[in-house]
Amino acid sequence: MTTVRRLDLRLIGLPLVRPFRTSMGVSTRKECVLVRVETDEAEGWGECVADVEPDFSAEWNASAWDAIATFFGPALLAAGDVSASVVEGLLAPWRGNRMAKAAVIDAVLDAELRARGESLATALGGDKQAVACGVSVGIAETTDALRAQVDGYLAEAYRRIKLKIEPGLDVERVAAIRTDHPDILLSVDANAAYGLEDADVFHALDELGLLMIEQPLHHEDLLAHAKLQAQIRTDLCLDESIRSAADAAAALELGACRIVNIKQGRVGGVLEARAIHDVCFAAGVPVWCGGMLETGVGRATNLALASMPGFVLPNDTSASARYFPQDLTEPFALEPDGTMRVPTGPGIGVVPDPDRLEGATLRRDTIEL
Ligand code: MG
Repeated sequence: MTTVRRLDLRLIGLPLVRPFRTSMGVSTRKECVLVRVETDEAEGWGECVADVEPDFSAEWNASAWDAIATFFGPALLAAGDVSASVVEGLLAPWRGNRMAKAAVIDAVLDAELRARGESLATALGGDKQAVACGVSVGIAETTDALRAQVDGYLAEAYRRIKLKIEPGLDVERVAAIRTDHPDILLSVDANAAYGLEDADVFHALDELGLLMIEQPLHHEDLLAHAKLQAQIRTDLCLDESIRSAADAAAALELGACRIVNIKQGRVGGVLEARAIHDVCFAAGVPVWCGGMLETGVGRATNLALASMPGFVLPNDTSASARYFPQDLTEPFALEPDGTMRVPTGPGIGVVPDPDRLEGATLRRDTIEL
C-alpha cells in the first residue's frame, strides 16, 4: 500500500513510420494520454490506448483526459493508502471509461512494483523470458504493396502475419498472401466490419487455412459470432467484444469464439486482463496480446502480460521501429528468432526518455495533494 502524492497527465504526439489503415480509417500519427503517478517510494507510468476519435472504442483522448482529470485523479489522491487493486475498486463506480482507468491503475501498479523491486512479469506469474511476436498489417493500397510489406515483415522474422480486412478488400488479398506463403501463421482482423449476411466471405476465408478470423461482426453481438462460429471451421477470435472477464466467460459459454485477444489497455488495465486470461486459461482457450500502437510504456506492459502461461499464440508486440521513427522509451527490438524480450527491471522495466517525452508533449496537467 502506498499514497499517491501527484499525478501528471500528458498528451503525447508521435509520427508513425507509415499510415496504418483498418476498416475504421487511417492513422498517420499516434496521439495518446500518458499518466505518471508519484508516491513516497517510486514513480509509475500508465499509457491510455484511446485514440483521437471514438471509432475503435467509445473513448477518445479528450474523454480519457477529462475522466482522469475530473474524477479518477482527484479520487486517487484523496484515497490515502492504496494498491492497484484498491484503485480498481475505487474507480469501479464510474462506468466504462476502461482505457482511462487502465492508464491510472497500471501507473499505480507500476509504482507499487518499483517500490518493492519486482517486475510486472514476475508479479503476474509470467513463465517466459521472451514472447513470440506477430505483426498486424494495415490495409494496403494494392495487393502488390501488401505482398511487399508482408515479405518485409517475414524477413524480419515475425512469426504471424495478421491482415486487416474490410468488405471488398478481403478474400482476394488474403488468398494472394496465402499463395505466396502456404505455411505461415496467417490471420485476418475485420474490426467488426461485416454482418452475418456476408457468410460467403467467411466461407471463402475458411478455405485459406487461417489461424483465426478476428472480430468479424459487430462488437456488441456475441450471439451473431456464436452463429458464425457454428458455420465455419476456422477459429473466431474476439477483440473489441471482450471488455472484461465477465464478457470472456459469456463469449466462451455461448461459443462465440475459440481464441481471445486480450488488450490490457482496452479492458481497464493489467489486473482485469489477468482475470480474462484466467477465465480463458481455465477453459483451455488460447489467448494472445493485442496491440494499440502503444509507445514503449504500453509495449513494456503488454510484454509482461504476454509472458503469462495462457498467451500461447504470437502477440501483436511488434518492434518500436514498426511504428515509430523514435519511441518514447529505449526502442523494443525483435530478436532474430521473432521473439521480444520481456523487461526484467522493477515494474514495467522502462521509463520514457525525458528529452523525447518533452519533445512529444502536446498538453500537460498535474494534480497534487
Ligand atoms: Mg483487433
